[in-house]
Formats: sequence, structure tokens, C-alpha cells
Amino acid sequence: MVAAADIKITKVETSKLRGMTLENLPFGRYFTDHMLEADYEDGEWKNVEIKPYQPLLMEPSLAALHYGQAIFEGIKAYKDVDGNASIFRPYDNFKRFNLSAERMCMPTVPEEIFIEGMRKLIAIDKNWIPSLPEHSLYIRPFMFSSDPVIGVKPSDTYKFIIILSPTGPYYAAPMKIYVEEIYTRAAPGGVGFSKNAGNYGGSMLATAMAKKQGYDQVLWTDAFEHKYLQEVGTMNVFFIIGNKAITPSLEDGTILAGVTRDSAMVVLKEMGIEVVETKITIDELIDAHKAGLLTEVFGTGTAAVISMIKELKYKDYVMHFDTDKSAVAPELKSRLNAIRDGKTADIHGWLLKI
Ligand SMILES: *Cc1c(COP(=O)(O)O)cnc(C)c1O
Repeated sequence: MVAAADIKITKVETSKLRGMTLENLPFGRYFTDHMLEADYEDGEWKNVEIKPYQPLLMEPSLAALHYGQAIFEGIKAYKDVDGNASIFRPYDNFKRFNLSAERMCMPTVPEEIFIEGMRKLIAIDKNWIPSLPEHSLYIRPFMFSSDPVIGVKPSDTYKFIIILSPTGPYYAAPMKIYVEEIYTRAAPGGVGFSKNAGNYGGSMLATAMAKKQGYDQVLWTDAFEHKYLQEVGTMNVFFIIGNKAITPSLEDGTILAGVTRDSAMVVLKEMGIEVVETKITIDELIDAHKAGLLTEVFGTGTAAVISMIKELKYKDYVMHFDTDKSAVAPELKSRLNAIRDGKTADIHGWLLKI
């Protein structure tokens, strides 16, 4: 096993940060000075290295490009008011990453590399964490198969990489959502619960079609009847019905278990709202809307934290939500942000100090 101390470190001579402000950077376009890279070969992880951010050299036969053994995570680090840096719930992403790895027939990554490597990397690029409100350092760990062989089989070699991107604020305008009835994101027995690259590739056409009709994203439904609600775009979804927050349950393996989803469930309970994880159909949702009980719909995910939904369209039935009157989603967002920014006590132990 690789100890954190075994990470080879090569630093840049001159930081790209000089002359750059970390204000209002768009999501995912700018990367810090360094990256972490590790190789899986002969059944073990080796060559763990932090080095200047740089292009990868690869053969056109690289297995991941052909057969899609590729997984990733999305995590954020923050600076609190005193300038101390922390990562939000990285152990949850670490566990999920290895679940994704197992489902995609890939090796798991040890904590020494995933967590300790990430901490070391962020410590080196600490000046890249924006300290402005709602800004953060987005952390992108990923792994892909790297055999230069186009035979269909699990690769013998893999690369694990972490890159860092300063970002924010992520302004998520209230969204218009189209309830999808043709395309499917995930089916039981499939890979919907794993954060693998192909899930995103497979979802883009449905989103593009929804955009053509003036919608921002789709609300995915189950593969068999297109009735059970799953996720909104690449976010988990919550429905506020009466004094309950309802979110689709995970047992079918068709929903990605979001860390923000889990955090939202904890904080919603603290707000005095009953949280129910259950199967819910579009018909039940429409009934709640007709009865005047469905007051808010929102998505949760690391990038935007909470995204409010102002319109939901199913066949000819359109539901409108006045997001200016939303009470739950804004309160939830501000409570989650306060924990991340260190403005309220981290009573759940969600922050890992750098
Ligand atoms: C990443 C992701 C989410 C959100 O997960 P978080 O851990 O909250 O960022 C939700 N759904 C899908 C499909 C995702 O890929």
C-alpha cells in the first residue's frame, strides 16, 4: 500500500495564479498549478505523484476512449472567514468512487491516495481556493482504463488523477423542466447509481431535445412505465408537498446517491420538515399539485448545491412555481452554505480540514 509520504512532489517554478483574480470564474474552465496522478499496474497502485498540471500523452488505442471504463467524482473545498481551508464530506465521495469502480470492473483506490493525496494537492494549491462568498475550489478525481489495447475486456492498467478548478459563484437561475417519457437515464441492474462518464454521454440527447423546446433539463422517469420519478438532469430531486420533503428512494439502483441529497435530508429534518424517501410517480405529483399541496421542486448537487425549479411540464400539463415565494429551498441552501463556509458550527463533522 502507498503511504501518503510516498507521494513524489514536483512543484511549478512560477504559479499561473500571479495576475489572476479568483472572482466570478466560470465553472470548470481554469485549473490550478498542480495535479495528482497515479498508475495502477501489476495489481497495485504506484507512481503516485503531484506535478505541474499538464496534458496527458496517450495512445489512440487507449481502452477508456473505446469502451468507457471511466468514473469521476465532484467535491468542493472552501475557505472559511478566517482563511482556513476544508473539504466538504470527501469520505462520502471516496466511498462512492470505489462503489462506481466496482460496478465498472475497475480497481478501487486506497484512502492514502484518494483522501491524503487530495489533501496534499490542495495544501500545495491552497492559494487557489477563493475566499469570496459562494466561491469554492472544485475537486475532480477521476479514473480511466489505460491499456493501449482495443480488445473488449477490463483493462489491466488504470490511471487515477485529481485536478482542481477554482469556481463560483454558481448562479443557478430557476429552471424549466420537461418530464422525459422517451429516453431513459438508468434501469434496474444498470449503472445509474455509479458516477461513470457514459451516464453523462447517454443523457445529453434528451437534454438537447428538451432545450429545443425551451426547457433547461429533463426530469428522468423509470425505464419501464416512464412514471416513477428519478432525477432532474444530473441532480437529485426533492418535492415539497405539505410539510414533507419527498425524494426518490435508492433501492432500484437507478439513482445516484448524492452527497448533497444526503446533506439536504439531514438539514431539512433540522428545519422541522419531515423527509420521506420513497417511490413517487408523476401522477402522484400532479395530484399533489392539483390539491395545492406541491409548493416547491428543487434539484441538489455539488456544483449548484440547490437549483430551484419554476416550471414542470408533463404531456400537456404544466405546473408553475413562484420561486420568489419559495421558503424551503432558499433556507436549505443558506444553511448548507453556512456550514461549508464555516459560518455555523459543523455539528455533523462534514468538513475535513486541509
Ligand atoms: C453527481 C451526481 C449527482 C449529485 O451528487 P452530489 O454528490 O450531490 O454532487 C446527482 N445525480 C447524478 C446523476 C450525478 O452524477
